Amino acid sequence: MRIVIDPTRCGGHGTCAQLLTENIVLDKWHFPILERAKLRDSHFEMAKRAVQLCPELAISIVED
Ligand code: SF4
Repeated sequence: MRIVIDPTRCGGHGTCAQLLTENIVLDKWHFPILERAKLRDSHFEMAKRAVQLCPELAISIVED
């Protein structure tokens, strides 16, 4: 599984980077950079939480 962020929806709120520190960092404008799209099984629940909490519905989890 991997994380996908739609940059056309993202508002740069940064919640995702707080929840998925291994996968996402923020640039200097607080927009996410997906450093590691692949999701560890142990981080799946946290990724689901990031999807639910993203205010712009910009994050999704896809199966490879
Ligand atoms: S939580 Fe959503 S809107 Fe906020 S930075 Fe992450 S992807 Fe963008």
